[in-house]
Parts: sequence; structure tokens; C-alpha cells
Amino acid sequence: MIVIMADESAAQKALAEAKANHIEHVYASENRVGFAGLKDIDDVPFINEQQVVDVITDHPGAMQVSRAFHPTDTVIQTPHSTIGGQNFSLIAGPDAIESAEHVLAMGQAAKAAGATILRGGSYKPRTSPYSFQGLGEQGLIWHRAAADALGMDMMTEIMSPADVDLVGKYTDIFQIGTRNMQNFSLLKAVGRQNKPVLLKRGMSATVDEFLSAAEYIASEGNRQIILMERGIRSFDQKYLRNTMDVSVIPVLQKLTHLPVLADPSHAAGVSEHVTPIGLAAVAAGAQGLMLEIHDQPAKAWVDGKQALTPDQMTNLFAKANAIHEL
Ligand code: PEP
Ligand code: MN
Repeated sequence: MIVIMADESAAQKALAEAKANHIEHVYASENRVGFAGLKDIDDVPFINEQQVVDVITDHPGAMQVSRAFHPTDTVIQTPHSTIGGQNFSLIAGPDAIESAEHVLAMGQAAKAAGATILRGGSYKPRTSPYSFQGLGEQGLIWHRAAADALGMDMMTEIMSPADVDLVGKYTDIFQIGTRNMQNFSLLKAVGRQNKPVLLKRGMSATVDEFLSAAEYIASEGNRQIILMERGIRSFDQKYLRNTMDVSVIPVLQKLTHLPVLADPSHAAGVSEHVTPIGLAAVAAGAQGLMLEIHDQPAKAWVDGKQALTPDQMTNLFAKANAIHEL
């Protein structure tokens, strides 16, 4: 149940009273108070009725990330980026951090093409345990140095709650990958710290499962969440790795106030189809794109088949900006 109060101070008062009455899972946003476990205004007799404007009971289960709880777009500020609302955010970088020189060179190209966030994995979720697993802390150090040298934000994947402090020492934005979208202890752990989290949609996750995963992060206190569609599993994987669910972008934007970005690299899985798929996502309203890039895709340590060259990225970002403007 979401109770709309007359103003923010009435909402704060109701929140304090709910806590004093030992009500669990209660949160405030501006002039609204959300009671995630209650459905009836009679359950909260301590609320000053004269200050109640309206009561919403038919909101989605993922309450805090819903527009019923926070009607306006969430805009997330990082040291070098403003994500969400009317802003259009560009993220690029190699799949995996390979060396100090390589991540710096890829960062230079990304920045020149308009990206403000430098991505790169140092903890890699690989299908096979025998594949390259990432450089660990050494990768984080090189990645941080490149981002600092270029005045960009660093974003990197985290796979275990045990790594939050270590990864958080370096990164500006935590990335949670498709395979960990429902790793609830990881979601709670990043929810307990205050850096933004980019949450990728599970490859087979429904919209409600995706929003509930985001709610796990919010339930621990962190509402700086960026959603990313990265392609879902479908019945034909012969020509494309996944299927970019373009249609989910406006659906999510109706349901949630969080920024919705798209990753055409993992959706396509092959570089020649990344551009049209990425542009389609922007046309559908994506508030940003993430691309994997490599100067020598055939030699990339991970995901080379889908990596764009710096020139291809520059071309795609220019077209994406034009479509976003439109
Ligand atoms: C990645 O961004 O490199 C990655 C592993 O993505 P996903 O979780 O979407 O597969
Ligand atoms: Mn990848």
C-alpha cells in the first residue's frame, strides 16, 4: 500500500511513526509512504488522516521501483555521468580487462566517441570453469587508472557478495550480469552500499522478475539502480546469440522510474548485427547504450565475435545520438 501524504514532512512523520510501531518494510519517497507488507489503511491507525491525500493498493509487488511510489524519472549522478530522465548515456569498453595499456586505449576511443562510462570485466562469469575468469584485483587497478586518466566513470561486474568491499574500492558503478540477476544475496549486498548498480535482465527473466530483482536492491536502501535489457533466450540461436527484447523498453518505462538502457552487444552476439539492434533499442526509447569494443576483435580474450572496432562504435554512437534527439 502506498499512502500519498499532503507533503514530504507529513510522509517523514508517518514513516517515523510506522517505525516506532515496529512496522516492517516501510519506505518514504517525497510525499509518499510505501508499506510493502500492508494493504489496508486501517492497519496504520497512527497516520494523521487529515494529511492523507490518497491510498494506492493496486501497485506492482516491486513497490519502490514502481512509478506509483515515485512518479518521476530517477536520475542518477555519478562523477562523470547523469543517467536517466532525458539524458542519453553511452557506455563502452572491452569485455574483459586485458592490460593497463589496452583498457586505456579502449577508454580513449570510447571517450572520443562520446562515452562517459568505461566498462570492463575483471571477474568474469564464464560458462566453462576452464575459460579465462578475469584478472581480479589487478584488472580493477588498471581499469581505475584508465578511467581516472580519462575523466570517465568505471563500471565493472561483481559476482559475489564477498567482493563488494574490494570492487567498491575501485568502481563507480557495480554491474550485475544476466546470470546473477536473481542472486539475491548479491542484490542485497549491493543494496547495502551506496554506489549505483547497473542490473542486467536475466536471460529468461519476466518483467516482474526483473523488477523484483531491482526491488531487492532498493529494499536494502539503495535506489540508484539502472536497468539494462541485454537480450533474452529465444528458440533460434543460430544466427544471433540472443533476442533483443525491444518491446520491453517502453513496458519497463511505464512501470518503473528507473533508467532503462540497452546492450546490443550481448543481444546480437555477432558484431555485424550490433548496430541495427542497438539503434532499434534507442528508437524504442532506451536511455543509453552499452557496447563491447576491441581494436583487434579476433584477438579479444572474451566475446571477440561481438566486439565492435572503435570506428564501428563511433559510427553507431553518432547514429544513436541522432535517433535519441529525434
Ligand atoms: C558482460 O557485460 O560482459 C556480460 C557478461 O554480460 P551479460 O551478463 O549480459 O551476459
Ligand atoms: Mn561480454
